[in-house]
Amino acid sequence: MNPFDLLPPGLKKRLIRWLEDNRGLVIVLFCLPASFIFDTGLSLYKWFQRTLLSAPERHDARVRQIQRRVGDWNKQDAPSRRPMCTSRPNWLSLSTTFFKKSECHRIPVDLYDILQLDTERMVVRVEPMVTVGDITRYLIPRGYTLAVTLEISDATCGGLALGVGMTTYSHRVGLYQETIVSYDVVLGDGSLVRATADNEHKDLYYCLPWSHGTLGFLVALELQIIPVKQFVHMRYIPVRGQKQYCDRMRELSGALDKDAKLPDYLEATVFDRDSAVIMVGNFAKVDTPEKAAKVNHVTRWYKPWFYKHVETFLTKGESDEYIPLRDYLLRHNRAIFWVLESMIPFGNHPVFRLFLGWLCPPKPAFLKFTTTPGIRAMTFSKQVFQDIVLPMTVLEESIDLSEKLFDTYPVLIYPCRIYDHGPSNRGQLRSPKSDQMCPGANYGMFYDLGVYGTPGPVRRKRGYYNPVESMRAMEAFIRKVGGYSFLYADIFLTEEEFNEMFDLEAYNRARKKYHAEGAFPRLYEKVRPEVDVVKIGNEYAQAE
Ligand SMILES: Cc1cc2nc3c(=O)[nH]c(=O)nc-3n(C[C@H](O)[C@H](O)[C@H](O)COP(=O)(O)OP(=O)(O)OC[C@H]3O[C@@H](n4cnc5c(N)ncnc54)[C@H](O)[C@@H]3O)c2cc1C
Repeated sequence: MNPFDLLPPGLKKRLIRWLEDNRGLVIVLFCLPASFIFDTGLSLYKWFQRTLLSAPERHDARVRQIQRRVGDWNKQDAPSRRPMCTSRPNWLSLSTTFFKKSECHRIPVDLYDILQLDTERMVVRVEPMVTVGDITRYLIPRGYTLAVTLEISDATCGGLALGVGMTTYSHRVGLYQETIVSYDVVLGDGSLVRATADNEHKDLYYCLPWSHGTLGFLVALELQIIPVKQFVHMRYIPVRGQKQYCDRMRELSGALDKDAKLPDYLEATVFDRDSAVIMVGNFAKVDTPEKAAKVNHVTRWYKPWFYKHVETFLTKGESDEYIPLRDYLLRHNRAIFWVLESMIPFGNHPVFRLFLGWLCPPKPAFLKFTTTPGIRAMTFSKQVFQDIVLPMTVLEESIDLSEKLFDTYPVLIYPCRIYDHGPSNRGQLRSPKSDQMCPGANYGMFYDLGVYGTPGPVRRKRGYYNPVESMRAMEAFIRKVGGYSFLYADIFLTEEEFNEMFDLEAYNRARKKYHAEGAFPRLYEKVRPEVDVVKIGNEYAQAE
């Protein structure tokens, strides 16, 4: 029972309005300290797990235990068997949805170890629950990083593999899935297979990304690593004019020229329709006093939020600095890109940062752990969280559409190759259309359009906003141009529309062949929001 329901309706409405109007204060007074205590507890538990329970040499025994549990599930009466999923609580996942794990048979997949670093093959072998925070802490002092990672330290290597991962290095190598050398998977019948791009299980290899645990339990994976220097030399290029910054991104990402010299890292933050700052990063050494004077530890608690720092170059003009690599990789962690501003509007004030900045960000796991049905409804009705993969050919159109539908800035642009692996290596993504291909190459240049924030009419408490209409219009556009919604976020697609967006032919074949039918939920069942977003969204729609 929600305690608010005990209040008279008038008082309840006023109280909710007060809480919404003073959300920043409520978060600072209650949420941040509670999140800090929660995070400390979780970190202690993780430290305990990493240092005292860590036992890479026991990996095979742990996998056999999972196989035994799947074997036991197979011995149950077929009609009464519920599909399986991992027992990892929903609140530990970064996804905005809450898949109903209680309706499944839960199998513990407690695999947290880094297993092996092979610098000859340039791969690291990990268990799936190793986080981005863990792996960067391990690899960077040794002179490496993952070829593709994510800026959020709580994302897991396994979650990124079975969901999707994309970063500012993806214009060079593509999605996270392109950097996976092998997957070890426990199938629905309890057998263990290793899938690679060219072994007898290559059909499984190509369908595991975007499968969200509906083809088997991932128990280990090998990831490509790259050598690094300890700093990223970052050039901030402010650009005025939409066509100008879009053309510049196409040029810098090599969208039109496969032989273009590419920077190591590339992204753009769009601050309004006609203003963006493009960030070009290259690995660098800091070996002179001039360079040392330009070092900026952007993730320290008292520093401005990264995107706010970036915004200053719109007025200051083009500039450069040197960012320590781990700071660079986690630059968006403290403000959760720009999500934190809608929670703590004064959070970037220097006094707040100095005294309380170390409490940020509130832990995503804590936010999910304390999500009530009302807050859950707000995450898609009064806010927008979407990452969308789109072809570079529609860059301008997509920014205009995002403004029309959501009226919120900044917007994130990460260019990313989408490879055409040919008809016999099909996964859930279709081959790019011919006009989307980079001439002469086997990939097309796409990008992640990241739209996070509060839609304009909701922010201003004036004007019309219906999340269902906006989201469905965006999804219709995505389908029309051959793009994809990231499935960690709420989708408003019907199953038919979902099947139109994704190519599920090879996936459905893999489900039959690899004993996933009946053993694991179907993909649409697994990723669709657990609540009726259309009904609730229409109820929450804001009138003029
Ligand atoms: C604010 C925000 C911004 C984001 N920006 C980006 C971005 O810029 N680029 C990007 O690539 N992504 C982005 N993401 C999304 C992020 O990549 C996904 O949430 C991703 O899935 C990683 O999260 P996770 O480790 O919590 O995975 P989970 O959600 O835990 O896992 C993903 C899926 O795989 C299943 N699964 C996980 N492990 C196993 C296993 N061992 N066996 C079987 N099934 C398993 C889970 O059940 C789930 O369905 C963003 C997310 C947020 C919240």
